[in-house]
Amino acid sequence: MKTTRQPPFTGSATTLPTTAGTAVGSSEKTESQETVLAPPDEQPQVLKIEEAPARQLGFAIVGLGKLALEEVMPAFGECKLAKPVALVSGHREKAVKVAHAHHIPESSIYNYENFDRIADDPSIDVVYIILPNSMHAEFTIRALKAGKHVLCEKPMAVSVEEGQSMARAGREAGKKLGIAYRLHYEPLNMQVMKWCREKKFGKIKSFVSSNCQIVEAPNIRLSRELGGGPVSDTGIYSINAARYCIGEEPIAVTAVACFPDDDPRFREVPESVSFILTYPSGVIATCDTSFGTIEGRRYRVQCDNGYIEMDPSFSYRGLKLKTKALLEGDESSEVSEINLRQKNHFAEQMDGFCKAIINDTEVVTPASMGIADLRIIAAIRESYESGKPVKIDS
Ligand code: NAD
Repeated sequence: MKTTRQPPFTGSATTLPTTAGTAVGSSEKTESQETVLAPPDEQPQVLKIEEAPARQLGFAIVGLGKLALEEVMPAFGECKLAKPVALVSGHREKAVKVAHAHHIPESSIYNYENFDRIADDPSIDVVYIILPNSMHAEFTIRALKAGKHVLCEKPMAVSVEEGQSMARAGREAGKKLGIAYRLHYEPLNMQVMKWCREKKFGKIKSFVSSNCQIVEAPNIRLSRELGGGPVSDTGIYSINAARYCIGEEPIAVTAVACFPDDDPRFREVPESVSFILTYPSGVIATCDTSFGTIEGRRYRVQCDNGYIEMDPSFSYRGLKLKTKALLEGDESSEVSEINLRQKNHFAEQMDGFCKAIINDTEVVTPASMGIADLRIIAAIRESYESGKPVKIDS
């Protein structure tokens, strides 16, 4: 293809003779000729330089399924403090491909049997568990015993007892254990948490939330043995968001579940569950979750002087935050949309966990939060199985 080139510019370094019809060197200078184009070589008085981290922490990724491959591995590209250094998988061929793509040596690929050998691998600081829920406890405890910090996907485990034994293993090993509640590192949800703490829109009266998606078989989410079911998979987002908005632990729950007779996907776990949580201050949270409806992920915090709404609230990208405040009781006041720069949730979460390790501070999403959610999940199940309201002891 033929390309045309501009003749080289021969004028002065700071002015450009661009005005059509004006001869170069003409004494009549136009405004455009006098416009200074090149910036002066002046340096700012205060130079802001973001220091490169002294060291990145090495992560071993355990389980190379959808979340690990589609979200977590790519997120390392946006991390400042975390880097992938090892993989743990039952499928070596797949692990080798992933290792090559991320410049991880083949010698740093482990399987579920030789996993405990990570104890002798000093490049691994953190183990990130992204396995089916029923495997979280075993691999978290083995990683802690190998002397590694652990970030474990939600739900933390399949029972309160398992969660407690994981927390105990963390204390005994003197290592950090964090649960991967990514929204605690996400700017818009963090803004909501701050407003709710400050009671910006008045007293919180109720919380309404829905997190639904379609799950096709086969999927780990449809197996009871693997710890599936909509409450611990998607409903957990509403349970957790209710806590960070309301700022209390629920005292009771009433739940109903639907197991449709004509859909073989829901032989072992319900298709849909609705639950109402009540809190000591009288706030009510009304939530629903389903594996059988079109995607919908949202919540609204209803206050006596306005509301805060996120829709979508729990997705990986494209979150939207809206508020409405009553100005001197004026119901017609405008709804405001709040825009903050969106960040990669998984990169923020991994860097956030690294910060807690490096600075030896509390993890933002500790094991106690995971256990509190497991307690509520167990009560929801007891309620829909018994058909009765269930008290929740904290
Ligand atoms: P997935 O089914 O795509 O991946 C599971 C991985 O575990 C696969 O690589 C599979 O090979 C491996 N595995 C090992 N033993 C297995 C067994 N006995 N049966 C089935 N698989 C086995 O699942 P996923 O969607 O990647 O979810 C994994 C975890 O991540 C779950 O705990 C889930 O709750 C969590 N998750 C979290 C988020 C989030 O936003 N934080 C999103 C999706 C999933």
